[in-house]
Amino acid sequence: MNKLIKRYAETAILLGLAIAGWYFFIRTPVVFPDLKGPAEITVLPTPAPTLSFADFQHDDNNALALLINDRNSSWLGLASGLKSMGIPFTIVESANAALNHDVIMVYPALTGANTSPEALRAFAEHVRKGGTLLAFSVIGGGMPELFGFENSIELPEFTAIRLSNDPFNNSYANSPAEKFIPLTENTSSEGGLSGISYHNTKHLPIATFNDGSAAITHNFFESDNGTGHAYAIGLELGHFILRATNARFVQLADSYVNEYQPKIDTFLRFLAKVYQQGEDNAILLSPTPQGKALTVLITHDIDFTRSINNIPFYAEMEKSMAVPATYFIQTKYLTDFSDEFFFQPSRVDIIEDVVRDGMEVASHSVSHSNEFSYMPTGTGKEQYPYYKPFVETFTSVRNASISGELRVSKFLLEQTSGQQVVSFRPGHLSRPDSLPQMLEATGYLYDSSITANQALTHLPYRAMADRSYDFPTSIFEFPVTIEDEKGRLGDRINEAIAVARNIARYHGLVNLLVHTDVTDHKLAFVEQFIVAFKDQAWFGTMAEYGNWWVARDTTSLFIHDDQPGLRIVEVSAPLGINGLTLQVPQGWTYNGGVSGSQQNGQLVSLGFIKGTASVEFAVSP
Ligand SMILES: [Zn+2]
Repeated sequence: MNKLIKRYAETAILLGLAIAGWYFFIRTPVVFPDLKGPAEITVLPTPAPTLSFADFQHDDNNALALLINDRNSSWLGLASGLKSMGIPFTIVESANAALNHDVIMVYPALTGANTSPEALRAFAEHVRKGGTLLAFSVIGGGMPELFGFENSIELPEFTAIRLSNDPFNNSYANSPAEKFIPLTENTSSEGGLSGISYHNTKHLPIATFNDGSAAITHNFFESDNGTGHAYAIGLELGHFILRATNARFVQLADSYVNEYQPKIDTFLRFLAKVYQQGEDNAILLSPTPQGKALTVLITHDIDFTRSINNIPFYAEMEKSMAVPATYFIQTKYLTDFSDEFFFQPSRVDIIEDVVRDGMEVASHSVSHSNEFSYMPTGTGKEQYPYYKPFVETFTSVRNASISGELRVSKFLLEQTSGQQVVSFRPGHLSRPDSLPQMLEATGYLYDSSITANQALTHLPYRAMADRSYDFPTSIFEFPVTIEDEKGRLGDRINEAIAVARNIARYHGLVNLLVHTDVTDHKLAFVEQFIVAFKDQAWFGTMAEYGNWWVARDTTSLFIHDDQPGLRIVEVSAPLGINGLTLQVPQGWTYNGGVSGSQQNGQLVSLGFIKGTASVEFAVSP
């Protein structure tokens, strides 16, 4: 009897679900009867090692020489970090090539086993003559005396690194957020990261591990050519950077989002300072255009009927302030259990208007499912109107694929906006491992699917396929800094301004995510934030900043210093760039070379360059 009741109940439930599903299905007409596409087929990607040493080799000996002595190391992480911070470097494979540079960094290890006695002697000589040597994992080889420690030990588990009060550190790090870097997640049972610790150091270490041993040592030598510096680093920084930016350290920072957590950035700022200390002609490429203090991207997620209707209120305010924003729009053309469809012909004029106002239209997927990270890859042939993802609950979706979400939303937004769609943000920041290569395959360029506090950086970076350590993609990631899902956004303006001021200390990125579901205090917040940074920040869409970032990424410098009192900086910018900003050494004055250039202190914003340009500086002795 019980069995019978149970079977009746099961049948009733199934019947109910079928009727509900059918009801939702027939309630959704084909909303754009004239549209069908995209026509082209997406070739599903196979991750590959797309970058080699040659992509990071330039012949300017004023650049930092990055000597990589293990091709299987996480060198791509270190290279990516140096690029993000704007430290000019060139990869070399021999000690001889490295010795043409004032500042040499040896990665991933400098040991008696991987370096010849002659090369080790030459490095020591380099430092004693005023050069700089940074080396990772220094073990044996008669190096302790050079780096100023007595012995080094490899240990499997360090849980944190803390910067010391060495005055050198105070120039770039002075708050706990900057000075304390955990190496293990709060919730993890893992003990931490392995590293090399250095003992009985001659001078105050730059940084210590949690057990008090030195994580970064500093030694120096006076010479006729000035002071030479040697730094031994005990953390595998390339690995740390890739692990964090691949979202494998998502609970390492103090919070998920909305805070200043510059964990990777502290290490990169240390390297930038060492480079400036050791290289008279050290020029950094600012992460922000046009000599501004920071970059601000105002971004909106549209995933709700009221949100799409509210777009004009935001766009009008932003237009009146001359701030182009990015609108990530969900192309919801099906009614399902999450919501009614709202992406339809009657709202196309909202999309057209927002484009006319100078805003960017970007994709926020079709179904906005939290299950995006678990969806199948798809066929690469999904088309509107046949692609019908159906959200059943927060944790289940039918007939959906990663390829379908990316292809079909891009197609519909391009058809309705007339704009090329290049930026993507998933609903709930739900991020499949294959997202970078799938974005690349479906024609996107820029992604915003992780928070800055999860990625441990306030700088954009190159995304890796499958969260790997070896397979870079052409996609760049722009992490979310501040969002609106904690408390009442309108009450958090001072907090947000404080975060942005910190990021401005190294010209980083503030990516503001505000849903347009509410106008009122959210609209006021965006306006107040813009007012607070109107003069100091560079504002743009994700596509504008992304295009600038890619152009900067491919820019290289060559400095001629053969005439006293003069420096000629050859800037090579194959993709063309406006507002490339050089942070020059003190005492350099821009003399001319590129029209539209401007100097403000040590920041020199260059006018438009495509190809090669020569920029001239007068240098006071
Ligand atoms: Zn959303």
